[in-house]
Amino acid sequence: MLMAKRPVAQFVMKISKYCNLRCTYCYEFNELGNKQRMSPELISRIFENIASHVVPNEYEWVSFVWHGGEPFLIPLEYYESIGRLQQEIFGEKVAVWNVVQTNLTVMTPRHLEFLKSQKFFRAIGISFDVLGDQRVDTQGRRKDDVVLENMQKLIDHEIPFGAIAVLARNTLPHVKPIYQFYDQLQIGSRFLPFYMDASNDQIARHAVTYDEQVDALKTIFGEWLASDNATPVDPIGDYVDYAIAHISKRPAKHYRREADEFVFMVGLDGSVWGQGEAYEPEYQYGNLAQDGFGQILSSQGRRRSVEEAQSRTERLCRQCPYYGACPGFFVADSSPQQKRMFEESGCPVRDVVGHIVRTLETTGVAERITSRAAILEKNPSTQLVPF
Ligand code: SF4
Repeated sequence: MLMAKRPVAQFVMKISKYCNLRCTYCYEFNELGNKQRMSPELISRIFENIASHVVPNEYEWVSFVWHGGEPFLIPLEYYESIGRLQQEIFGEKVAVWNVVQTNLTVMTPRHLEFLKSQKFFRAIGISFDVLGDQRVDTQGRRKDDVVLENMQKLIDHEIPFGAIAVLARNTLPHVKPIYQFYDQLQIGSRFLPFYMDASNDQIARHAVTYDEQVDALKTIFGEWLASDNATPVDPIGDYVDYAIAHISKRPAKHYRREADEFVFMVGLDGSVWGQGEAYEPEYQYGNLAQDGFGQILSSQGRRRSVEEAQSRTERLCRQCPYYGACPGFFVADSSPQQKRMFEESGCPVRDVVGHIVRTLETTGVAERITSRAAILEKNPSTQLVPF
């Protein structure tokens, strides 16, 4: 019997905007000196309002990504008390886990012990570009040595982590060595194109053009393909998957924001947005300080966002040869900057997936994928072995 898939939800919690760095492309740049943090009372209300929906609707899991600012400027005891609140409110009724996204400038022995124990954080993401000169402190000094030292501490303590590098004007020339750095260490990484901003000045200084973004992603794909380790790198991993789905004519999958959206950004005061439209007043979904998560899902702001996502998908993805192999997530969950890029130049994912498809075809890999897919169709019990 087929089981219905149970829903899941991830909340990116802006526990504080306060940060010891002033990365010049940070979309929180204007708030990085603000020491306000989510109070225990607010966090408790947020949890209650999430639980009131996810428990009766039998969610499979709920995760919280503790984000900032720099979340490790908040004492670890604060997270321990949040863990106790989660235990009281969610108990055994739904699986809950916590993730942290850090700039890795703060890593004391106590942090190492806390992370290793997994008593609160189950996964760690670090933000580090490796090269480029944008990740500086309040005095404009680079903190790369501190981050590298702390990365070594995580490795020495066998604490796994993933990394994010921002794809912006100053990292653009370095995408090859950045991927090679993480690949040699076999650390999974993600290149995040600069997609949200705090000002027009930031856009002028850091935004990359459509062509630059496409070229950079093609370069990263080339490095991944040529690597012996082939350490996973996002979003290339997804795009290779779309290319293989296209070549092997896998059944189509379409992203429907209404039903499939599962990542929600929660601001310092409990306000909620979808991923791409954070802080855009007309797309605010509500506020978890007072609204149940069920109300958030059916709010007017979300309805507007969902309807616009749907019409964008119809307009851009319907005429894309990869739609169905690519679920259209990138177009549906886009930021204002990305929407402008679609209008001016189209969808960069389409170009990159096209490049991957052509590469797989010219190297003969596509043919092998197609013949294995045919074998699989005739005999579904045959495993599709890696090529
Ligand atoms: S237009 Fe872009 S997001 Fe839409 S299906 Fe094509 S590649 Fe995917």
